[in-house]
Formats: sequence, C-alpha cells, structure tokens
Amino acid sequence: MAKSKSGKGKLTTASGMPVDNDQQTLTAGARGPALMQDVHLMEKLAHFNRERIPERVVHAKGAGAHGVFECTADMSAYTRAKFVGEVGKKTDVFARFSTVGGEKGSADAARDPRGFAIKFYTEEGNYDMTGNNTPVFFIRDPLKFPDFIHTQKRNPATNAPDPDMFWDFLSLTPESIHQVTILFSDRGTPRCYRCMNGYSSHTFKWYNEKGEVFWVQYHFKTLQGIQNLTRQEAARLAGEDPDHATKDLYKAIETGDFPSWRVCVQIMPAREAQNFRWNIFDITKVWPHKEYPLVEIGRMTLNRNPENYFAEVEQSAFSPGNFVPGIGASPDKMLQARIISYHDAHLYRLGPNYQLLPINAPKATTAANYQRDGYMRLDDNGGGGPNYWPNSMGGPAPDPSVAEPPIEIEGQGARHPQDVTDDDFFQPGELYRRVMTETDREHLVGNIAAHLGNAAKRIQLRQTALFFKADQDYGRRVAEGLGLDMKKVEELAAMTPEERAASTAE
Ligand code: NDP
Repeated sequence: MAKSKSGKGKLTTASGMPVDNDQQTLTAGARGPALMQDVHLMEKLAHFNRERIPERVVHAKGAGAHGVFECTADMSAYTRAKFVGEVGKKTDVFARFSTVGGEKGSADAARDPRGFAIKFYTEEGNYDMTGNNTPVFFIRDPLKFPDFIHTQKRNPATNAPDPDMFWDFLSLTPESIHQVTILFSDRGTPRCYRCMNGYSSHTFKWYNEKGEVFWVQYHFKTLQGIQNLTRQEAARLAGEDPDHATKDLYKAIETGDFPSWRVCVQIMPAREAQNFRWNIFDITKVWPHKEYPLVEIGRMTLNRNPENYFAEVEQSAFSPGNFVPGIGASPDKMLQARIISYHDAHLYRLGPNYQLLPINAPKATTAANYQRDGYMRLDDNGGGGPNYWPNSMGGPAPDPSVAEPPIEIEGQGARHPQDVTDDDFFQPGELYRRVMTETDREHLVGNIAAHLGNAAKRIQLRQTALFFKADQDYGRRVAEGLGLDMKKVEELAAMTPEERAASTAE
C-alpha cells in the first residue's frame, strides 16, 4: 500500500467540512437509533453504494501499465502520422491487457483471447490500437457479435458457462475455425500478459503527405518470448492464483524488469488489395508473411504501474475510432462496427465526458472543440468562449490539410452473402500442418477434446467436421479423442453448411 496522497491533513466530507469522528455514528443515546443528521455517515454510505460503474460487457478483467513507444524506422513514405515519422521519437503510451468473456473477478488463466489495447498519446491526438493476442477473429460480420458473446457467457437458466451454447454457435459458424484453432492451442492460455504478441487483426489505412494509400496490419512481438500455460497448469492457476497475470505484470514493472514489444507492420499498397486472392479486409484471415513481411516501426516498453487501478485502468477507454492524421479505417465491416460500438460503450459506462478523464485525455496536445455540458463535465467547460462554429471569436477552426485522401467505394446496398473467394479452412489447416510442432498439435487436440467433450454428441460431430475440413489429420485426431464415429464426421464434412446445420446425426 502506498503512502496517503492526502497526507496528514484533516479528514473532511466531500464538500470539505471537517469530520470530528469517523468511528462512532451519531445516535440518540448510547444505545439509541442513528440520527439522520449524521451527514458524514449518510454521505459515506451513499458514495459507497455508487462505487461500481457498469462492468465492460467484454474485456471486463484487465491489467494496465504506462510506457513509451520509440520509433525505430521513419515511416513517412507510408503515413503522415508524426509518431512514426522520425527515428528516435518517443511517444507516451498506456496499455491495457484483458481476458474477454469473464467477469471482472474471473481468472486470468481462462482459455480466451486476450485484449491488447494501446493508447498512444501523440502530439496529433490520441491514437488507439485496440487489438487482441490473436491475428484473426471468430466472425467477420458484426451482426453476429452479440450472439457470439452470449454463447461465451452464462446459460440464461443455469447461470453457468455452457459447452453446448459455446460449441453450438461455433459449429454453425464455419468462419470461426481459424480463431478456434488458435484459441485451443496453448496460445489460448498465455502464461502472462508480458509473454504474448499483440495484433491489430483488422486492416487499417495509412496515407502519406502525397495522399498515397497503403493497407497495414500491426504486430506487436513480445521480447519476453511467447510463453503459454498447458491446460493443466491453467486449471490449477485459475483456482490457486486467479490474478496471476495481473500480479505478474505489476511485479515485473515494480522490480524494473520492463516488458517490451517489437512493433511491426505488414504493408500492402492499395492497388494490390483489389486483385488479392481473397478479401484482405476479412478479419478471419492473415496476410502471409512471405508476401507481406513484417517491417519494424518501433519498440514499446511498459515502465510505470498505475497508481490507482480504478482511475487509470478501469476508467481507461480505448476506441478503434481514435485515429490521427495519416491513419484511418479500412472497409472491414467488423472495424466499422467497433468504431461505433466502443465509443458507445464508453458513453454508457463512463458518461459523455469520458474523454476528459486524465487517463483518456490527450497529453501531448490539447482537445479543442465545441462539445459542452453533460454529466460530470470536470474542466472549465470552455469558459465564456464561443460554443458554436463558425465563430469570429477566435475559436478552434477545422484544418482542411488533415483531410484523408478520398477512397473509391462502389457496390449495391444489400445484405451480401459470403464472398465466393472466402475459404475458411485453408489458413487454419496451414497453421495445423506447417506452423505447429507435434507437441503443439498434441496439446491442441487434447485441449479441444477436454472442452468439446462436454457438449452434446451431435454438436461434437458437427464441430469435428470443421476440424476435418481444415485438415484431415486434425479432424481424425479430435474424433479419436472424443470417441466419435469417423464415418459420420466425414459425411458431415462433405455437406453444405445448411445441410450440416440441419443434420440430426449423433
Ligand atoms: P509463417 O510461417 O511466416 O508465420 C507463422 C506465424 O504463426 C508466425 O507469426 C508465428 O509467430 C505464428 N504462430 C506460431 N505458432 C502459433 C500458434 N500456435 N498459434 C498462432 N500463431 C502461431 O506463416 P504465414 O504468414 O504464411 O501464416 C501461416 C499461418 O500462421 C496462418 O495461417 C496463421 O494461422 C498463422 N499466423 C500467421 C500470422 C501472419 O500474420 N501471417 C500471424 C500469426 C499466426 P510468432 O511465434 O512470432 O507469433
């Protein structure tokens, strides 16, 4: 516990009135009832009742730290963003890591993707990279997101996690197979937040001073080395030390063992995107390294713990819509939805002035606009200056020079079916066949069998058909682990998704 920030001064109420006694309630007689005029008691209890703010629906359990990003390559040929425009330039950052599905008190060792959110306090405003420790995601259409998350939470009747819900949805959502394969590898249970990579997963737009456009994906490569827990280790830690990753991050920084990441991007010139083999904005796929090698742009080091968890970590609010000139959105519809959704979640959770909170406010520049009033406006609210634009009172003016280059968009407004170039199975197959070691494969199959084995037989069969479609050996080994009839798995694998969904095989 750190020293009190209020020093040895007098105890007061919130309005500053000195408090005479903080141990005995004001009562009528020694045994009598409490008096309503005990303002200190009333205020203390009322504030206590309001200590909790709404928990994040996803990414509720997290840990964070402050640090610095140092640019190691001048990227001005690709983006006009200043924080990556000069070798040696340093930008303050705040990072928050989290699990996704569990509540605020859940175990750090849960099998789950890990959130990997970074706020860069740049001189051109805050830039947020809200990624995960996985390069892909379960779904590519945001309309499916609330349903997906419901299946990862608690059964509405039992209030317990439900393997049927979990696998029913995934087995009916074939595009999830890539992420499911990563999640059920040991990377689904990182040993600590320091020892995992971070990925933007989405494609973003970079544009330079000349208005040339590039598509990029971010990769944060841990310099602590990838370290994961086995299923058995994770189960033990979840019970014995549910905050193990939170404590690990805090302790490492406290003892001067600052974690750092090599920050890289994959870069694709805009013209190559149109003719690429698949939709490069599809978040269920990666860009092969051979074709788009990693280019290092900097190093991120975390070197300072938060002084107060609530003020700095719980109230931190990241948004994929926080861009700076030189960086913008891609047409990825998942990203488009997150741009709306994150901001909306913070408005609900923290209120309309959440960006004025010290952890969220710009540090290397000042926000200047005509937003006014609202709950908890905690600065001077623009004082007596103009609250409208245009004005002739010297108020902040838009700067046309920061406009994004135009981007051509065409097509019919419709609920378009899946792109015919989408192959959901090749990349997870490649991961299984070419990237994983035999030990990785063994653990993957064991992790899946231990979890999927708790679902209904017909769901096990339907899900195993997807593993089989990714790689026949993969499917066979899962079927073996679950004791499933291989003939039924193969029949299901040969069906269309609609036929598979309708199948009653068990
Ligand atoms: P490469 O052989 O060039 O790269 C393979 C990548 O897989 C490396 O980035 C490695 O990175 C990562 N990796 C290793 N083990 C696992 C695991 N158990 N779970 C997830 N990732 C792992 O291949 P390609 O670029 O051609 O991609 C092949 C497959 O690798 C992809 O289909 C995808 O599944 C996976 N992958 C690809 C990434 C990409 O951006 N291209 C990123 C991450 C995974 P490291 O150990 O540093 O994380």
